[in-house]
Amino acid sequence: MNANAVTRAVRIPPIVPAASCSDLPVLRERGQREVFCGLTGIIWLHRKMQDAFFLVVGSRTCAHLIQSAAGVMIFAEPRFATAIIDERDLAGLADVHEELDRVVTRLLERRPDIRTLFLVGSCPSEVIKLDLSRAAERLTQEFAPRVRVLNYSGSGIETTFTQGEDACLAALVPTLPAEASGATPTLLVVGTLADVVEDQFARLFAAMGVPVRFFPPRLSRSLPTVGPNTRLLLAQPFLADTARALEERGATRLAAPFPLGAEGTTLWLRAAADAFRVDATTFERAIEGPRARAATSLARQRLMLAGKSIFFFPDSQLEIPLARFLSRELGMRLVEVGTPYLHRQHLADELALLPAGTSLSEGQDVERQLDRCRAAHPDLVVCGLGLANPLEAEGMTTKWAIELVFTPIQGYDQAGDLAALFTRPLDRRQRLVA
Ligand code: SF4
Repeated sequence: MNANAVTRAVRIPPIVPAASCSDLPVLRERGQREVFCGLTGIIWLHRKMQDAFFLVVGSRTCAHLIQSAAGVMIFAEPRFATAIIDERDLAGLADVHEELDRVVTRLLERRPDIRTLFLVGSCPSEVIKLDLSRAAERLTQEFAPRVRVLNYSGSGIETTFTQGEDACLAALVPTLPAEASGATPTLLVVGTLADVVEDQFARLFAAMGVPVRFFPPRLSRSLPTVGPNTRLLLAQPFLADTARALEERGATRLAAPFPLGAEGTTLWLRAAADAFRVDATTFERAIEGPRARAATSLARQRLMLAGKSIFFFPDSQLEIPLARFLSRELGMRLVEVGTPYLHRQHLADELALLPAGTSLSEGQDVERQLDRCRAAHPDLVVCGLGLANPLEAEGMTTKWAIELVFTPIQGYDQAGDLAALFTRPLDRRQRLVA
């Protein structure tokens, strides 16, 4: 099959928002959950902001979680660590604030490259009601202007793992400089993107003549300005608090689906192009090459995925955009799309593109959801690590949700790689049973 034939083989349904899908009934569950905590976000945030450091104030469990999730090399100078709250702290025998000051002072002496230090709260620090915002203020006064100290919570109590990024970025928003009065409108892309993806989007926006900044920036001190002339475009669907904080500073959110797959990327870029009055010819010229490459790579993956059924357990909050991509561009059948939280406003454009009758669930009652999954016996299950092994042992094929957050998946040039993340487990299962 040649490239042109492959390109023609892709049949993306026309983009006709089905109003009824935005009003899809949602099964709300509030039972036991199986998700990672917000500390996990440190793994991709520390790679992005190269002059920031994340100091978790937590237990040995917290330290093990991020060490094993990050696979830290012993020779690397890591940009995160854990200040362990031990038994003396928990018993109130030590002044935790004094100990924290000592740890931070030692860290900043050893690491002059650190410009922003995040104190990251955890379940233990919340349980002992350690006021990290007070600590951050005190330490900022001590170490300013060289280092800015901020705080947020990554605790696993009532949060899911991508909320760690939301909390971190929301903590950064008050530090963004105000835009100059009468500033020309600027696009602010919000949400951590791999550098390679950010560079691709920067080139596409430049080809359209759209001035763009990215948040978070690669250097935590190169913060973008914000104000009434800021048009914000979310690159991730889990940034409710960050978007609210930016809107409170005057920014206007552009409604769009998320940039997953060729269709999602086109609609996401078009939302920005429309806001900046880019004419249709310039827009088409800018995207035609990358969009054609995406169509070619998706056609190959579609051969494997079309007609296969998929079940999403709630985990990353990427579930709804992924379900839209897999059903519309790859022909998969959606059995159930679970999400930890459903932000109807931010996901309105995604919900409108889901097939009519899609089963949506929000929150989790894990035993009941497992029963529904077993009854449906889908071809592929997207879930957290804790559920994947037991389900594999029962003969199901699984995909770890967390991989979808660690891998660059946004944009045209990653569309094929994103689809391949779903074909690989199916391919592996086929080989095992062959
Ligand atoms: S923050 Fe809570 S859930 Fe996360 S590793 Fe620490 S103790 Fe566990």
